[in-house]
Amino acid sequence: MTAPRGRNKALFLDRDGVVNVEKNYLHEVADFEFMEGIFPLCSRFQQLGFWIVVVTNQSGIAQGFYAESDYLELEKWMVGEFARRGVAISGSYHCPHHPEFTGDCDCRKPKPGMILEAGLELDLDLTRSVLLGDKERDLEAGRRAGIPRLGLVHGLTRLETVDFDGFPGTNPDDLPAILGDPSGWA
Ligand SMILES: [Mg+2]
Ligand SMILES: [Zn+2]
Repeated sequence: MTAPRGRNKALFLDRDGVVNVEKNYLHEVADFEFMEGIFPLCSRFQQLGFWIVVVTNQSGIAQGFYAESDYLELEKWMVGEFARRGVAISGSYHCPHHPEFTGDCDCRKPKPGMILEAGLELDLDLTRSVLLGDKERDLEAGRRAGIPRLGLVHGLTRLETVDFDGFPGTNPDDLPAILGDPSGWA
């Protein structure tokens, strides 16, 4: 499948470990802790014209740890918290599946399904988009979808550094300067 070449560019974010502190099978607002640095990062990318899109594996739904409605309620709250800080979440996609419980699907990362769906729905040019994840499977999903700028995030409670090809250990504050200049993008 070839990547759509739409009009918009996006900053794709994994949720757990990038937007919020990773906690096993998190599904309640009370346990949701935003990663330090995520709001200013999103603000700066938004100023550069990137649409902010969340793509998250939520196999806790398939495994019965929480209901899809719990997930959606938390998602709605999360989007509202971004909005209160001036950041628009243009799309939020989740995979509720787990291969052992629901069989194979096209959306569970490292599959690119959620990213490709977002690309079509939001008219994105994935070749001008950026993805941040905290696991190799996040980056693999981006790679398969045709996103060239893939960043591996380090830090347990705050965005400490991000590794990009050619830019290892980058301070998140420097990312917009490195990645935000569309003139440098093929
Ligand atoms: Mg994660
Ligand atoms: Zn899925």
